[in-house]
Amino acid sequence: MAETTKLSEIEVARETLRRLAMTKVPPTPDNYRALYFEISGAPATTAFPEREFKAVLAALPRANQEQNRFSRQLETAIADGNWDGVGALLKEFIGKLGSEQSQWPGLIRDLLHQLDTHHAGLTAAKKKEALDHVLSVSGTPELLLTRLLSLIRSWALNPAAEKSAASASSPASTPAPATATGVTPAAATPSATPKAQTAPPAWAGGIVELREIIAQLLDNTLSIILRDKPDLARETAEISAAVKAAKDADALNGLSERLKKLCYRAHFIAEDQAEISTGLIHLVQLIMENISELVVEDQWLSGQIDSVRELVLQPLDLRRLDDVERRMKDVIVKQSSLKQNLNEAKNRLKTMLSTFVDRLAGFSETTSDYHGKIEVFSHKISKAHDISELTDVLDEVMRETRIVQIDAARSRDELNDMRNRVIEAEQIVSRLQDELSSASELVRHDALTGVLNRKGLDEALEKEISRLQRQGGMLSLAMLDIDNFKKLNDTLGHFVGDAALVHLASVVQETIRPQDTLARYGGEEFVVLLPSTSMTDAVAAMTRVQRELTRRFFLNKNEKILITFSCGVAETRIDEDPYETLKRADAAMYLAKRAGKNRVVPA
Ligand code: GH3
Ligand code: MG
Ligand code: MG
Repeated sequence: MAETTKLSEIEVARETLRRLAMTKVPPTPDNYRALYFEISGAPATTAFPEREFKAVLAALPRANQEQNRFSRQLETAIADGNWDGVGALLKEFIGKLGSEQSQWPGLIRDLLHQLDTHHAGLTAAKKKEALDHVLSVSGTPELLLTRLLSLIRSWALNPAAEKSAASASSPASTPAPATATGVTPAAATPSATPKAQTAPPAWAGGIVELREIIAQLLDNTLSIILRDKPDLARETAEISAAVKAAKDADALNGLSERLKKLCYRAHFIAEDQAEISTGLIHLVQLIMENISELVVEDQWLSGQIDSVRELVLQPLDLRRLDDVERRMKDVIVKQSSLKQNLNEAKNRLKTMLSTFVDRLAGFSETTSDYHGKIEVFSHKISKAHDISELTDVLDEVMRETRIVQIDAARSRDELNDMRNRVIEAEQIVSRLQDELSSASELVRHDALTGVLNRKGLDEALEKEISRLQRQGGMLSLAMLDIDNFKKLNDTLGHFVGDAALVHLASVVQETIRPQDTLARYGGEEFVVLLPSTSMTDAVAAMTRVQRELTRRFFLNKNEKILITFSCGVAETRIDEDPYETLKRADAAMYLAKRAGKNRVVPA
């Protein structure tokens, strides 16, 4: 043995091979290794499977911070060939798994308990709002767990509002104070109620609940119906505050007269609103009918209009309205081409009239006075902008024609005929123009890319503003502008430029979340609305869009063209007008341009 320990690695290897050959043991890696360590006398070790580990590492999810952190630590341990490190990490990870899961049941129990408990200065609506907020901003289960824990803790620290009510509301089923999550809602626990106090009347819990429901009805429903009536909205808020402050049934009863009056007035307003919406639907139906009369010859357009009409006949909801809008957009695009045809018809008419007047002048050469006037008429015709001006000129021509009486009868007939045709055309034009202008009021989508246009963006922003006012929460806005777009237009043509805009819009649309909104702000500028999103998350989202755009090339005649954009992101501050936020996003976008383009810059 003492001899073998002195052998060098090469000698051990040689000896191993020799013995394998001698004993006729198959020279598999395992047999070789076993014999090698036997000869060398060293304890058998296994090589650290770095390559295999790295393959496992590459497949690990890295969807959030926590997973990223774990993967990074594991990577270090593997790079160091550190078995203990790998073991410790796995132990920590699995340990956490268990502990997190074991916390959830207790947490949910606490949450339910705290939601049921009435706290001073905390309405059920406020608690729900805070809960909603935590749910929407906590990206990972770990974050959600810690945030929920601290939320519940903060509620539990509030003193119970109606000690009697809290205990009366569920005297039999009082949940045990939470222990699993470590939350001790001392003040809120029914057991904290001194026994010596006068016993609460049996209906107190019911009153508290009724009070909450009335307040919620006023705050969440009636305030929406009355949002355009400032005096009534104020009265609603005041009554709601009084309801919340009511200490007992008598106090609540005292408010019934005011409530009755408010209901009475709100009733009329709700009726008005219902009538307005019915009226609007009728208006849309009327427009659709008129348009369909005008386009009897166009099969495609009639089909579109029929389907829109059908949609409008059913009870409306927001999704259906959107659908109607999308179809209307197609109709409107078609109508604008109709309008172009009309303009052409107008011009043709103008040319026809000029020729006619010229001819008239030709065969009345003899009357120099008339000839002079005809020249004036020719001039007026060429300057005329609309059909009514042309009609006036025609009237004058007719008067003059009557005076000189050359070929009077024939000319007059021809002119009369012409004038009737002009009047007819004028009527069609004005009717079509009326239709067009009422239709264009409805356009909220950009005809080229199909995403919202400026008007659509305005409406989407209004919706977000009222949502923020009602529920609070977050809103981020991103302003993006294609880089060097003028150059693309100049080198490949406007047509390709248009196609690039369509491509960009569809990549953005497909990469953002369904609740986000994309709008074309102008030329090659777009705005993305990201509700319930912090600025950091919005920057990440827009960076993802940028990456996606480098993956999905824009193809022009099989040539791959890389489109990039510069982007500014801003989050609405408390009480900030989103248009101000938009300005800040725009300013950040310019910074992105200045910093070298193709980047996302937070405001
Ligand atoms: P920068 O990177 O600084 O934004 O440079 P740019 O060339 O993109 O910006 P610039 O504002 O100088 O040019 C914008 C160009 O976008 C000019 C205009 O021809 C083009 N454009 C705007 N709207 C449209 C459109 O609807 N279709 C096409 N094809 N081009 C458009
Ligand atoms: Mg621009
Ligand atoms: Mg640009």
